[in-house]
Amino acid sequence: MRGISEKRMERELEELGGFGRDGSGGITRLSYSPSYVEAALWLIGRFRELGLKVFCDGIGNIFGVLPGEGDSIFLSGSHLDTVKSGGVFDGAAGIIVAMEAVRIVKEQGITPHSNTVVAAFVEEEGASFQAALVGSAYLSGRLTDEKMTSLIDDDGRNIGDVARDFCDRISPYLDGFYPLGIPSRAVEVHIEQGARLDRSGMDFCIPPAIVGTSMTEVEMTGEMNHAGTTPMDIRRDPFRGTVEVASRLNGHVKKFPGAVGTIGRVILDPNVANVVPGKVTFSLDIRGPVGEDLKKLIDLVIADCHCVAEEMDLGVRIKGGHSEPPTDLDPILRKRISEAMDKRGWSWEEFPSGAGHDAINLALICPTAMIFVPSKGGRSHCPEEWTETASLAKAAQVLADLIVDEKGVK
Ligand SMILES: [Zn+2]
Repeated sequence: MRGISEKRMERELEELGGFGRDGSGGITRLSYSPSYVEAALWLIGRFRELGLKVFCDGIGNIFGVLPGEGDSIFLSGSHLDTVKSGGVFDGAAGIIVAMEAVRIVKEQGITPHSNTVVAAFVEEEGASFQAALVGSAYLSGRLTDEKMTSLIDDDGRNIGDVARDFCDRISPYLDGFYPLGIPSRAVEVHIEQGARLDRSGMDFCIPPAIVGTSMTEVEMTGEMNHAGTTPMDIRRDPFRGTVEVASRLNGHVKKFPGAVGTIGRVILDPNVANVVPGKVTFSLDIRGPVGEDLKKLIDLVIADCHCVAEEMDLGVRIKGGHSEPPTDLDPILRKRISEAMDKRGWSWEEFPSGAGHDAINLALICPTAMIFVPSKGGRSHCPEEWTETASLAKAAQVLADLIVDEKGVK
């Protein structure tokens, strides 16, 4: 592959992965932490070495910019933070790939048509401020300065203040505040974090959508009683109700392609071996790639909760939740990506992303697409996370082809 250096990419991933290395063998690089500052300074150094202009914004996102001939802006990148004891590739891979793509475009003496931006988003994982996708939300305008004051870390500091300290720390090495506006197009390269590509042997996935998510909490109440003296036929056992809902949930989910449903947390009250519980609280996490399907599925499951409660003489309360609609990724950009892969003779398939990504926020402001590369064994958010450098090099080539191909794109 002309220009792309797998060795260089491997070395850079290793160097970046060295920031936040913890005792578990994994990486804990929480946003704004000392290891995050080190990683940011390292990245700024790489950007400088590449001859890019380097900027940050009010939340601490970092941008390396290769000026283009035109006014349009092509953005690619991912997040620089990790979960606790995460892996080397989640987020970092998308930044290293974008940087390599820009590097080979530049090394070949090409001035791209679009201003090309390598972005490193902060606080995607939500490990420090209990809100995910924060950096990209700021870029999209979804997170206002005002809302920032309500995001508080464990030390009671709001994200605006923490971000300001971080920006002060890195500003001597920057060209200033990010001067460009909203991107014209954005492509986020990310590890799949699932096992589908690893199983299919395909090179890439071009996800058509990122699934929508609905989180609800359900409380079922019955009658607490003695496990030995209460006959089965007069029990009002909310755990039996919970099991029935879980079983019906499985049946409903199968009717909607790509949808998944999980009861991941169940709290019995009391949680005692010889007592029929009086109350059960359980979580309901439902996800799907099609907005209408997702709504129908949630309605079906909630209706079941009421139905089961009535059949078993239980009380039921649906406690409000949080929901995020699915994100459709841009069909034109996806087509350009698939054509670039076809030209190189690399295989790809389409399936929705089951995880949330910064692309959700980017899609609010500009045509956005994603490229997934295989995750070995589908492992992610753990030290064992692994993606072959060859896959990342291919992704960098596709991205470089897209950057060169920006000319003539309206
Ligand atoms: Zn990620």
